Amino acid sequence: MVRFDKVVKRFGDHTVLDGLDLSVGRSERVTLVGPSGSGKTTVLRLLMTLERVTDGVIHVDGQPYSHMHAGRAGSLAPADEKYLSAPRRRIGMVFQQFNLFPHMKVLENVTEAPVHVLGLSREEAAERGRELLDLVGLDDKHDAHPTRLSGGQQQRVAIARALAMRPDVLLLDEVTSALDPELVAGVLDVLRDIAASTDVTLLCVTHEMGFARDISDRVVMFDHGRVLESGPPEQLFEAPQHERTQTFLRAVH
Ligand code: ATP
Repeated sequence: MVRFDKVVKRFGDHTVLDGLDLSVGRSERVTLVGPSGSGKTTVLRLLMTLERVTDGVIHVDGQPYSHMHAGRAGSLAPADEKYLSAPRRRIGMVFQQFNLFPHMKVLENVTEAPVHVLGLSREEAAERGRELLDLVGLDDKHDAHPTRLSGGQQQRVAIARALAMRPDVLLLDEVTSALDPELVAGVLDVLRDIAASTDVTLLCVTHEMGFARDISDRVVMFDHGRVLESGPPEQLFEAPQHERTQTFLRAVH
């Protein structure tokens, strides 16, 4: 589904991804773990075309995806979304900081992009939006403004909003790290339900090792912009091959 082929990303003379090779199969659930600054979020931002590769190629469904966006500026405003290529529209992301539209009600946050980008009618988008808000446990909050919701509820709106675009690939970037500890479990439960009830391909960055263990088919240990090792959660967590992985896991547990 997604393949990074010798991808290099530099910011100035700082090499963040150093010839990264990484594949994620259709409907596979892959979690990236590793030290802070090792380049995990950069992988997701490249897929969202929020950054451009310095070298190498990203393929989506066998097509050289990164080249399609090579002429773009480094960052896209939401208003540019209607110009996005078809493969790019198949990828959605939930950010650490929710990034909801504060002036819109919850349901409008979820229906905005399906109407403007997918061309759904307001009624179709609202019907699907209500179903998704039910799925994330917010059936009583359709008309609330995001600022009146808890962080956990806001993050669940952001998850519903991403799903409303019917992505084939959902990117989750440390989606619980801005939340108060007591709100984390509710958001992770919603994501576990989504993983169990859909065939969406998931690529997650998380510091929640319990969540990584539960949700992943494969956990990838990142270090210095490369894959150090990767395997099913029980293998990576119980029998890591590299000393560096062992030290990292001891530090985060
Ligand atoms: P964390 O777990 O702390 O979120 P990470 O593994 O996700 O870290 P990235 O956010 O991908 O790491 O960042 C990797 C490196 O790239 C960091 O050193 C960061 O400072 C640098 N970096 C990221 N974005 C930019 C940017 N726009 N300009 C300059 N440097 C950047």
